[in-house]
Amino acid sequence: MGMTNQIEEAEVSILHTYNRFPVVFDRGEGVSLYDTEGKRYLDFAAGIAVNSLGYHYPGYDEGLKAQIDKLTHISNLYYNQPMAEAGAKLLVASHMHKAFFTNSGAEAIEGALKAAKKYACSKTGHAGHEIIAMNNSFHGRTVGALSVTGNAHYRDPFEPLMGGVRFADFNDLESVKALVNENTCAVIMETVQGEGGIYPATQEFLEGVRRLCDENDILLILDEIQCGMGRTGHYFAWQAYGVQPDIMTCAKALGCGVPVGAFVLNEKAASASLMPGDHGTTYGGNPFACAAVSKVFEIYQRDMILTHVQELTPYLENALDGLAAKYDCVTARRGMGFMQGLEINGRPVSGIVSRALEEGLVIISAGSNVLRLVPPLVITRADIDEMVRILDRILAE
Ligand SMILES: *Cc1c(COP(=O)(O)O)cnc(C)c1O
Repeated sequence: MGMTNQIEEAEVSILHTYNRFPVVFDRGEGVSLYDTEGKRYLDFAAGIAVNSLGYHYPGYDEGLKAQIDKLTHISNLYYNQPMAEAGAKLLVASHMHKAFFTNSGAEAIEGALKAAKKYACSKTGHAGHEIIAMNNSFHGRTVGALSVTGNAHYRDPFEPLMGGVRFADFNDLESVKALVNENTCAVIMETVQGEGGIYPATQEFLEGVRRLCDENDILLILDEIQCGMGRTGHYFAWQAYGVQPDIMTCAKALGCGVPVGAFVLNEKAASASLMPGDHGTTYGGNPFACAAVSKVFEIYQRDMILTHVQELTPYLENALDGLAAKYDCVTARRGMGFMQGLEINGRPVSGIVSRALEEGLVIISAGSNVLRLVPPLVITRADIDEMVRILDRILAE
């Protein structure tokens, strides 16, 4: 069966919530993907910042297979060792105090919001607290996560969403200050806005929001679902700023392909928020998912993945700056580490993404006019060169 037939078959049974690109991926190797007709692609999307170790990274599959042979699921009514190991490693990497494992990013956000609400409720003795979120943000598609997502297109059909959310402008401290009142329990934001178009927080903004939160006993929730897990050359992007959140959300690359997320709390938030009976999940923290998390941290450590990202970032940035200098339609480069965006003006980004796919390069878009590059963290200089050669050819058209 050719790809066209495979696509038609999928459309028969699968709800059409994505306008997918006309390719059926079959397998991966290193940082290459292959479709069902055997064509090779260089992967600069990593399944949307998930496959940070690429495909079949040494040791990863073996770790997962070993856990499958022991136990894949047991409920949260019991203890399991992979969860304890994964939790310990996540706390070492983040210098936070307690972790709760979820099945996805959106669920990590849901848990973080509940923890913030509960913290405020315990402190004041009443409910009805408010949350400040950012315009142009993205936190996921469940109702709670959508309630703090600053994108009218995603939200409008589903109103009314969770109440008590006010939106400030990212990187505008005064706009956040203006929304604080005695009921504010949390400020939530991505450290680097991803879906919105790759906008890193400014140092001044993140420090300012941290200070504002401290002064008012408001919890700072940093969404590290896309920018975390080494993508910026730090385990978590806020570590580059020297600013620590009270609650952090993590997912995407946490399991490098196994669906898993987490919300992670500092001591203050952990000790006075969610208590037995306040939160739960059937799958979250199951031994299979946590074996993946544990293996990912082990590999990051063993093979110095963060150092690799730090060392190669200037090379990637230079290469992209070269494209920006050469082509008028590339009006800016933004990003941190291996989370980079090229702002495109005067031609549709979707056309560039489609052409790249034809030429054997997987890249994605962000916002309305940004080419997003979130490759596996294990790419080499040669991979960057190949990516630039292909993009150069397409931008010249
Ligand atoms: C992808 C993403 C989410 C949602 O994660 P899912 O696993 O798709 O639910 C939330 N926040 C950010 C910043 C993301 O990039």
